[in-house]
Amino acid sequence: MKARTKLHIRVKKLSEAMPRIKKIQEKWAHQNCLPHLAYANKSSAFCLDCGKSFSLDIISRKTATCPHCKQYLKVELTRKTTHKAVTYFAIAHVIEDFQVAEYFELRAYYKKGEKVHYFLQAIMEDWILPNGKITKIGLLHTLNYYCDSFSGSWEIRDWRHAGYYTRSKYEIYPRMYHPDSVFKPEFKKIGINKNLAGLTLPEAISIIPYNPKAETLLKAKRFELLEHVTSGSEINRFWPSIKIALRNKYKIKDVKIWFDYLDLLIYFQKDLHNAVYVCPKNLKKEHDRLVNKKRDRQRREEIERRRREIEQADILFRSKIEKFTGLQFKSGEIVVKVLESVKEFEQEGEILNHCVFTNEYYAKEESLILSARIDNVPVETIEINLGNMKIVQSRGLGNNPSAYNKKIVALVKKNIPEIRRIFNHKIA
Ligand SMILES: [Zn+2]
Repeated sequence: MKARTKLHIRVKKLSEAMPRIKKIQEKWAHQNCLPHLAYANKSSAFCLDCGKSFSLDIISRKTATCPHCKQYLKVELTRKTTHKAVTYFAIAHVIEDFQVAEYFELRAYYKKGEKVHYFLQAIMEDWILPNGKITKIGLLHTLNYYCDSFSGSWEIRDWRHAGYYTRSKYEIYPRMYHPDSVFKPEFKKIGINKNLAGLTLPEAISIIPYNPKAETLLKAKRFELLEHVTSGSEINRFWPSIKIALRNKYKIKDVKIWFDYLDLLIYFQKDLHNAVYVCPKNLKKEHDRLVNKKRDRQRREEIERRRREIEQADILFRSKIEKFTGLQFKSGEIVVKVLESVKEFEQEGEILNHCVFTNEYYAKEESLILSARIDNVPVETIEINLGNMKIVQSRGLGNNPSAYNKKIVALVKKNIPEIRRIFNHKIA
């Protein structure tokens, strides 16, 4: 976007006149903004900084000091021989009445046998007036599935009138601020200095003066919590517990897990003001323990709920079946009897592996369900429609007819008059 307004023209001029980053600041970024690694396989290791190999003997507790370039290294076990990394950092300046944050992109290309190649460029600047108005100037940010790069010419970037997506892609989250950074006294007073993390400088300036909780977190350097100030209600919701954590200097390794854990404490009605609960020694372990405990309880509650449901269904069913109680008829080894309780439906369904229980046949108004048995073991289940006194179905194991199907159907048919007599008799 062309600089059109007076403010834009002023920012563009000042930005172009700004001194470029110094060599010594670049060196600082190389040293401090990216991790220093060695890759080790089973036979040897190499330093990603200087590219040279060294013996596994000098590795201790996954760290080593490179014998060639003297860099202290974290050792990773891998067979990879190349690596790429990118990070962002910032330098803050005060220029005329502006608070300025200047952002840099640092890319590193590592290859075994070669010294690391760094690529550093200035990508964006925030120019912030005393009234809070922010002007952004910098490179074009191309961000999509294939590409995340800053390029093009140094221009005013119109982000206020853009959609959320465009706005957020010009919001740079620097990993750290260079120690030479200068902040206005009014910002330093509320805790904004080179340690700022979790919020961008524009975010911090717009939020902290109006949010005492954010200010408390910033002054306590609890950046892991500060970053949640903008993204949800947890900071407000858990503020009493956060104060306990601050007071106890409790280190929170994973804030999301901790919030989750506090929700679990609420579920189990624990005291959220008590450091014993709020600050567990092993957060992950306590979190997992409560998750399992909650799952157990929910499972038990579900079983109990289902049990009560069946109890209710059974009361209804027994009053419906009352007149048929004790009814049974025989032919040879086959005995056909009425299913007299919901429990019997459950057993029948389990033994014959069909849906007479799960589909709640006991609740069907029109149906009478009988069980055909040999030696008291269910062989088939019969449904009779009490409206027309017809056999609807007679099914054995897995809904298939048994070897006795014909005999069973014949026996039931023969006894339909008896069923009809009982049904009509009690109604009359
Ligand atoms: Zn080295």
